[in-house]
Amino acid sequence: MDLGITGKRALVCASSKGLGLGCARALAGEGVSLVMNARTEGPLMAAAEAIRAKTGVDVVTVVADVTTEDGRAALLEAAGDVDILVTNAGGPPPGMWSDWNREDFIAAFDANMLAPIALMQALIPGMADRGWGRVVNITSQSVKSPIAVLGLSNTARTGLTGFVAGTARQVAGQGVIINNLLPGIHDTDRATALDKGVVEAQGVTMDDARAARQGTIPAGRYGTIDEFGATCAFMCSQHAGFMVGQNILLDGGAVNTTF
Ligand code: NAP
Repeated sequence: MDLGITGKRALVCASSKGLGLGCARALAGEGVSLVMNARTEGPLMAAAEAIRAKTGVDVVTVVADVTTEDGRAALLEAAGDVDILVTNAGGPPPGMWSDWNREDFIAAFDANMLAPIALMQALIPGMADRGWGRVVNITSQSVKSPIAVLGLSNTARTGLTGFVAGTARQVAGQGVIINNLLPGIHDTDRATALDKGVVEAQGVTMDDARAARQGTIPAGRYGTIDEFGATCAFMCSQHAGFMVGQNILLDGGAVNTTF
């Protein structure tokens, strides 16, 4: 299928590794030029160079923390008039509901709610003026079904989801399509870090921790970043113009719901 986005330009936040990298690679594969971002220079440069070599698209890199105002200013300056925005950042640490104080909540809000909202507020007006735009926010399955140890994620991402639900319907008429993409467990550094937490807490091996988690996924495995990126690219495509304010779950069936 031709996604119809060759020649478009995308800002993909937090994209040197993991799910953001999967999205960047898939968009580049469709001929979309990129602004890629991470806080650590080496892996970002390596990821960008690999994409340039494979696809030939133009890739600009911005070493910045997307959760800070200065970081977002640098990203927005490099992004200019982008057609596509993929928001992403690292996830908050695990813990119990009683562990977190005000500062912990504010850090989670900054990363997983306020940063994507600020980027949308900055970039949607230009997309609307030009009559075309796509926004995909990487959130989590935790907005559909809470994950007990990820209360900070449950809280912050649900706030973002509410903002998107209202905003997507206000800008769709101007050609700007906003949706959220909800990962279940995918094979990334983040999943490995969470599995290590289980190893430490329960005294099991890494293989046992992973097997136990895979047992909770009807598909029987972790998702791949390429599968995730392909779905993201479709949501950024010409064909997604009637998909407004949706929360698309990619979880191998892990969340047990009818709708
Ligand atoms: P990952 O493999 O750890 O990759 C995170 C990427 O984001 C890296 O490129 C990292 O580079 C960059 N990054 C992190 N914090 C950043 C910041 N403040 N500013 C700019 N770049 C930043 O993580 P992932 O698994 O792809 O997860 C991405 C998001 O999806 C997270 O919010 C995670 O909680 C959520 N999620 C993941 C899963 C899963 O199974 N993987 C499931 C549900 C939700 P630097 O460290 O160099 O900045």
